[in-house]
Amino acid sequence: MKITNVEAIWLRVPALDQPCEWGEDALIVRIHTDAGLIGIGETDSSPAVVKALIETPSSHETCQGLRQLLAGENPLEIDRLWKKMYRGTDYVGRRGAAIHAISALDIALWDIAGQFYGVPLHTLLGGKHRDRIAAYGTFLPRSDDAGNRQLVRVLLEQGFRSVKVGGGTFGDNPIEDRSIIRVLRDVGNDIQLQIDLVGRWRNYTHALEQCEALREFNLNWIEEPLPSDDTFGLARLVQTTGMRVSGGEGLATRHEFQQFLDDTAPAIIQPDITRCGGISEMRHIYELARTRGVQLVPHGFSTGILLAATAHFLASTETGDLIEYSQSESPLFRRLVKNLLPFRDGYVQVPDAPGLGVVLDEEVLEQYRVRQ
Ligand code: MG
Repeated sequence: MKITNVEAIWLRVPALDQPCEWGEDALIVRIHTDAGLIGIGETDSSPAVVKALIETPSSHETCQGLRQLLAGENPLEIDRLWKKMYRGTDYVGRRGAAIHAISALDIALWDIAGQFYGVPLHTLLGGKHRDRIAAYGTFLPRSDDAGNRQLVRVLLEQGFRSVKVGGGTFGDNPIEDRSIIRVLRDVGNDIQLQIDLVGRWRNYTHALEQCEALREFNLNWIEEPLPSDDTFGLARLVQTTGMRVSGGEGLATRHEFQQFLDDTAPAIIQPDITRCGGISEMRHIYELARTRGVQLVPHGFSTGILLAATAHFLASTETGDLIEYSQSESPLFRRLVKNLLPFRDGYVQVPDAPGLGVVLDEEVLEQYRVRQ
């Protein structure tokens, strides 16, 4: 079997000159083979940048285009191809967008392998530890208490027992943040509640003050409290607050996670399978976390492709018992994957179809496709 083509498909809901919210654009890849099998992957990154990294003609040995690197290769040789892509993009890659692109392609290669061998991806990854995974719902806060109260009620009615709030202006105004969390706790007194600061707290002192102010709400974790490069501040916060600090959704490869773990000792790491280097690299990152007793709760806020890849991966691990379930109303989450893994009674069912098991809705794909 040989790879015959690699498609990089840029999807976007708003027009190019209109603001775009999380979940409203995506970069999907399809790897075609001469056996007729097609692998699907995605990355939650800057679609135009990733598309260029895939489609660019090669410049020289360590600055190559990913499509050219894969052309004619056997898609079942995933580890060799991962290393070939990593080496071939050394000058523009090793971290960041090139690893995001490799992540998408790696997921598609695993999808092909699953289809080829006729087994779900979690079987290829070593076996299924669970049939369903508890899910937490992530939502962006509304500007008023009534709106937030209603949002959480809807989540609880759906069966969520774990909720995360963050994004928008959350983290900018301590009084407003406190008011939002108070409303959430009023409605869901006994639920798991976590907050995501997206790096908005200013420094260690500021972050410590905010943690203390919120301590009474029994938060399950505090996500990305400080700017990404404030390693010193984050390490101090982890040591002094006693609250569970998490992060890492923007990190790529085991190397960045090793550094993150060494420098800050977080309670939880949150690699995104579409950014960290795909399923292949996620396995290394998981083992790193395991050896240090750190929990891994993957980031996941994009399409049903990411959701399926994450479910397969978590099912194949001993401790992968919590998955993020986007509350985005974007058609790219709700409708791009025809057989989107449903959320039911607090859980996501682990799929058992061969490969990744996702079926794309070609009409949705064409409707939101950016042609440039
Ligand atoms: Mg986050």
